[in-house]
Amino acid sequence: MRTDEGQPISRLAAGQKPLILSKIAGVRCPTCNALQPIYRMNRTNPHKGWNKVAAHECSSCKSWLYFDGKGRYRRFFLIGAPLFLLSAGIGAEAVTHIDGLHHFHEARGGSEGNFLGFLVTVFLFVIPTVFFTSRFESVQTLEKNGQI
Ligand SMILES: [Zn+2]
Repeated sequence: MRTDEGQPISRLAAGQKPLILSKIAGVRCPTCNALQPIYRMNRTNPHKGWNKVAAHECSSCKSWLYFDGKGRYRRFFLIGAPLFLLSAGIGAEAVTHIDGLHHFHEARGGSEGNFLGFLVTVFLFVIPTVFFTSRFESVQTLEKNGQI
């Protein structure tokens, strides 16, 4: 259970801002609509991640936010897995048209990505897509019980 005593509250240092992957993930505070750092928010999900915290404090309105993980199976099968496969397929196809990222496969009579092409597929297509699916996470506000 989430208690004020048990798990720590995550806070950004003054001046620290969410970076590019958080912008792709697009997780926002339900109270003030400020962009939240996805790495910190993922630590609040009881079904995901490690080094868990009870909540992440919104830097602008000081609400304590967390992912409750509700609807995760629906999200995984209807959004996560299809988008993952689609992005991997599009990335693998795209690198076969860029010189230096593919080689000709004699037996198949076509091109396929080489190792660099695989890295481009993962970092430019798959990872941004996986972060994008965080937009569908359910964000809740934790009651503070009188202490900060
Ligand atoms: Zn806020």
